[in-house]
Amino acid sequence: MKSLVLGNRKALVEEVPDPAPEKEWVIVRIESTPICGSDKSAFLSETPVRNAGHEGSGVVVDSAGSTLLRNGDRVILNPLSGCGTCELCLTGNYIYCPDKPPFGTHFAQFVKVQDFVCTVFPEDISYDTAAMACCALGPAFSSIKRMNLRAFDTLLVTGLGPVGMGAVVIAKFLGARVIALDTVPFRKKMALEVLGADVVLDAADPGVKEKIREAAKPSRLVRAIDASGNPAAERLCIDALEPGGVISFVGENHDEIPIRPSEDFIRKGLTLMGSWHCNLNDRAEMISLLRRSPLVKRLITDTFGFSAVQTAFEKFMGGDACKVILKPWQ
Ligand SMILES: [Zn+2]
Ligand SMILES: [Zn+2]
Repeated sequence: MKSLVLGNRKALVEEVPDPAPEKEWVIVRIESTPICGSDKSAFLSETPVRNAGHEGSGVVVDSAGSTLLRNGDRVILNPLSGCGTCELCLTGNYIYCPDKPPFGTHFAQFVKVQDFVCTVFPEDISYDTAAMACCALGPAFSSIKRMNLRAFDTLLVTGLGPVGMGAVVIAKFLGARVIALDTVPFRKKMALEVLGADVVLDAADPGVKEKIREAAKPSRLVRAIDASGNPAAERLCIDALEPGGVISFVGENHDEIPIRPSEDFIRKGLTLMGSWHCNLNDRAEMISLLRRSPLVKRLITDTFGFSAVQTAFEKFMGGDACKVILKPWQ
């Protein structure tokens, strides 16, 4: 089968052996596999990377050892893996399982995946739309559920990469107002004109905090998602929200940010949390979102076959794109 190898700013197709099924690990023929922001490091790596790509959708073609899936099932390939037996896995929070077995790249024609991390989806949802359930919608989906976002609320979204755009889509589906921030003109325009964000501000504007507060009126601004991973934006969420606010971090940041327990927590009553991906038990609601929100498919800005994979990565790396989908059979 064809599979991708990334590194040194190159994306190349190579021939590798087809995977074989084993116990609960089924074989899925991949029909749609989006590039994730976290795949950038593989593309830029100085050594070849053969295990990038963890989003996608496809059809089960060999389910020999599975009691959950059958051949022909159309499935969303949720990111990552889990042991399948610990309390976290059994409650659907497999994403936090401390004992993750390694799994194959989704930048391939076939992949061997665990049956329980797949979401079966119906015929009326396309493979490309279904693939948005992975990193485009998943991180914000669980954040928005946990913070109980309502139509009466205004949501501040800092960072309009694919994850932040996903937050805009879900917030608009629920009827909330959205104030979104970024510095990239393409992203600001897309959030405003394509996804329907209510107010889009420039994150580099020194007066942005006051502009956020002004834009939120007359409601109190008490909900925020940071999808940038930028320390200044994370701190801006803490400072821009009013007392009692709830913030979810979904943009990766492995460094520290300043937190003042008295000012931020004791005297302001903020709640800070984070989210990596949604709970598997939210499958039915995710299917409903994919089916009923006309905005989901608008997250896809580009589609390329494996035959044009270098162009696909260059487009994604350039920033003037949201979700870029790869088609392994084209
Ligand atoms: Zn991802
Ligand atoms: Zn587990």
